[in-house]
Amino acid sequence: MGEFDQYQAIVIGSGQGGTPLCQALANAGMRTAIVERAHVGGTCVNEGCTPTKTMVASGRVAYLARRSADYGVHTGDIRIDMGRIRERKRAIVNSFRDGNQGRIEKTANLDLIFGEARFTDPHTIQVRLKNGGERTLKGAQFFINAGCRPAVPSLEGLKSVPYLDSTSIMELDAVPEHLLVIGGGYIGLEFGQLFRRLGSQVTVVQRSAQLFNGEDPDVAAEVLKILQQDGIEVLLNTKAERVAKDGSQIKLGVAVGAESRTLSGSHLLLATGRVPNTDVLDVGAAGLATDDGGFIRVNSKLETNVPGIYALGDIKGGPAFTHISYDDFRIIRTNLIDKGKASTDGRLVPYTVFIDPQLGRVGLTETQARAQNRKIRIAKMPMSYVARALEVDETRGFMKAIVDADSGQILGAAVLGIEGGEVMAMLQLAMMGKLPYTALYNAVFAHPNLSEALNNLFLKANFIE
Ligand SMILES: Cc1cc2nc3c(=O)[nH]c(=O)nc-3n(C[C@H](O)[C@H](O)[C@H](O)COP(=O)(O)OP(=O)(O)OC[C@H]3O[C@@H](n4cnc5c(N)ncnc54)[C@H](O)[C@@H]3O)c2cc1C
Repeated sequence: MGEFDQYQAIVIGSGQGGTPLCQALANAGMRTAIVERAHVGGTCVNEGCTPTKTMVASGRVAYLARRSADYGVHTGDIRIDMGRIRERKRAIVNSFRDGNQGRIEKTANLDLIFGEARFTDPHTIQVRLKNGGERTLKGAQFFINAGCRPAVPSLEGLKSVPYLDSTSIMELDAVPEHLLVIGGGYIGLEFGQLFRRLGSQVTVVQRSAQLFNGEDPDVAAEVLKILQQDGIEVLLNTKAERVAKDGSQIKLGVAVGAESRTLSGSHLLLATGRVPNTDVLDVGAAGLATDDGGFIRVNSKLETNVPGIYALGDIKGGPAFTHISYDDFRIIRTNLIDKGKASTDGRLVPYTVFIDPQLGRVGLTETQARAQNRKIRIAKMPMSYVARALEVDETRGFMKAIVDADSGQILGAAVLGIEGGEVMAMLQLAMMGKLPYTALYNAVFAHPNLSEALNNLFLKANFIE
């Protein structure tokens, strides 16, 4: 064995869990290294939440500007400056990234190593350094936070056609004339609506019978209605089969049941999910068990099958969100540093889909609750009943809560409406405190906040018996 560096703890990937974890481990006195192949902050800061939500803000301004006459405000022509949108996005990403990196660099006991890690045995990684050369690192403990990357579907002809993924689409310098989107999940729809608002014609191709697999059918149907109102073409039950280039156009062959159709567009976005970075990392060399999708298997304490190796965030499968990765960090910190007892058991998984209006979701869906044979009641109310939504003239969507029929506690909620994510968080707080729905029905909320709508959501008349 040649030269190597020995660490007490090695974090692989500076995602949303790894970045705070490496600092906590180092601050606890362990000699720690964090290895990052691209840029500090991971997907969220560089290619995920931060840049998308920055750009979605531009889309919303364009939407409101087009509707300004409804509010008695007249503007001139709406023109989109993609260069400025991209510049704004880059500036925010850079400032978040630099902040993260600066905090790591200031931490004592902590080495930031830019390079791509690969296991050679359960205690050793080989790092292909970003600036050339290789380094061998040995660690007493490893914490894998190496995340996922966009999946590339097996689609005939894809090799000979230029395509976009969730990262490259944010670097466009002009608005696509006609964007074809394969995939009706949250990434496909956030980008689909954004580019529609910036002026593209948009066609979304979704293989299954509804958008957002996993959400209740009524929620998915309302999202479909909203996107159609926005002028987005959505093709359900439609399978992308082949793709070809035809001059400046991209031809996408799809099957709708037994029927074949050819769609034509100027740009193609692949939004068909994400795959874990376990292959590059060669987790097999460390003896780590993975599932069929290549995600690392962990228990509820985020321990892998190999003692001393933990996995955090998207790479372990399950809900892939920034706040989940961050909570994974909390669990490991609690157990390893604070000598407490924490696990993923019973963890609530809230999330917000940043289409407009937002979809805020937490807990069980109605479908899941019924599959568990629970005795439930459903409270459901359109946003057009909400004073605040009427006042700001944004009444699309509805709110819905799944209530346990015996205890009255809220088991889950979907809020598809203006600031749906924030209203969902109110329901989440009630779930955390195990409040019965009557506490919200009778609560005094400031008028006319959106939260005040929770009084009426739980009116007797809004329960679907
Ligand atoms: C377009 C888009 C929008 C999103 N929007 C949201 C949102 O609104 N809200 C939300 O909660 N989540 C959102 N997500 C998901 C969110 O970004 C992730 O769940 C989050 O970043 C957590 O990821 P992570 O901590 O597992 O790792 P990541 O953030 O993916 O970080 C992994 C890091 O590991 C590095 N790495 C990988 N392999 C190696 C290796 N072999 N050696 C060294 N380093 C390596 C990578 O370069 C990367 O920096 C979005 C994702 C995308 C793609």
